[in-house]
Amino acid sequence: MSILLIDKRKSIKSNPLSALYSYLSTAFALLFFISSSIQLTAQKLRCTHDAVVSSIDDNRLKSENRSTFILQVVVHVVWNQDEENISDERISNQISRINEDFNKLNEDIDLVPDLFQDLIGNAEIKFELAKEDPFGTPTNGINRRQTDIKTIGSTLSSDQKEVIKYSTLGGIDAWDTNHYINIWVGRTVEVFGLTATLSSAGTKDDGIIITPEAFGEFEDDSSITNKGRTLTHELGHYFGLIHLWGRDNGCGTDDDGIVDTPEQERPYSGCKIFPQVSCGSVDMNMNFMDFSNDTCLLFFTNNQVQLMRDVLTTIRSGIIVSDEDIFIPKPLEDIEISVHDNTLLIRPASVIDGPVFIEFYSISGQPLHKETLNILNDHRINTNYLPKGVYILSIRTANQRFTDTFAAGF
Ligand SMILES: [Zn+2]
Repeated sequence: MSILLIDKRKSIKSNPLSALYSYLSTAFALLFFISSSIQLTAQKLRCTHDAVVSSIDDNRLKSENRSTFILQVVVHVVWNQDEENISDERISNQISRINEDFNKLNEDIDLVPDLFQDLIGNAEIKFELAKEDPFGTPTNGINRRQTDIKTIGSTLSSDQKEVIKYSTLGGIDAWDTNHYINIWVGRTVEVFGLTATLSSAGTKDDGIIITPEAFGEFEDDSSITNKGRTLTHELGHYFGLIHLWGRDNGCGTDDDGIVDTPEQERPYSGCKIFPQVSCGSVDMNMNFMDFSNDTCLLFFTNNQVQLMRDVLTTIRSGIIVSDEDIFIPKPLEDIEISVHDNTLLIRPASVIDGPVFIEFYSISGQPLHKETLNILNDHRINTNYLPKGVYILSIRTANQRFTDTFAAGF
């Protein structure tokens, strides 16, 4: 693992913006965590990373006149086995996922406990696959290359370069990192994703590596990374956030520097029942900067959002394509739902054109039902098999969403 612990901090001292930040990373914090924990499990960690952290002026959160930033993304798929050559469709649904997560439009946002509802932040950042390459040639924003290297996402050259980021070493060169968010998809070991530190901004090494089994959304009940949240988390790092527990596990040691995230002792895994407590407060293990399973990562806080936008508008301002207001999903109105005779009836006021994605979850976030309709008219779903309880229904179209709860099993 030590091969990943490249100290990229040195150049930041010459960065005039570094004065914005109260302190610097002491390198990649998970050295401790990895050495103490990874031997206990064969499972991959969410990621390894630590960056720069700053305090946020709470007053500014309410006063800033925000617009949505539009950023360009290029995805470099470097594959060895066929299944690592992920489809365009999966790349597209990954982009949809981050657009929902960074615009507070994720269908599972209602699963955030009441205690934290007021803290949910809306980053108002929109991601698009690049439409032109650095030479002005039209592109779909996706590059592909086959490689002989089985775990290219974790392979370093003899001079400590990340091989996946260099075409001469078998990977794919970054597109100008001052203008594109570069994401490499390639098999890694030990972690699902990793992000270059902020001090690498604008260099050939800047960007994010994600292993294919944690990229995009796909059907696999045994997967803990099938909802595309690894990239949401890594983008948090890309915009300057660190993990909730700070660099070191423990209470009273260090923290993430974010005022509205409670102090937390250590990362969580799986999907823990609410509430979990450490360091004398209820933990926010459903925050995107934790290590919970994808289905249980739900939101950024207001102060996290402010830090990300600060980093975006300073250190990373070159990647902003536009800050014009753009079209984002609006609430779907006028849908009635009711449950009779073990049947959930969904009744829109008028027919809704598809595709319409219908899902529901248990209160703890377990997905129970998923289907796609060509149009939505009166629609019935059998709830016979559900235990007595309250469930969360999500209905989405390409540009609208609806969420409500219903009781079943009575
Ligand atoms: Zn991380």
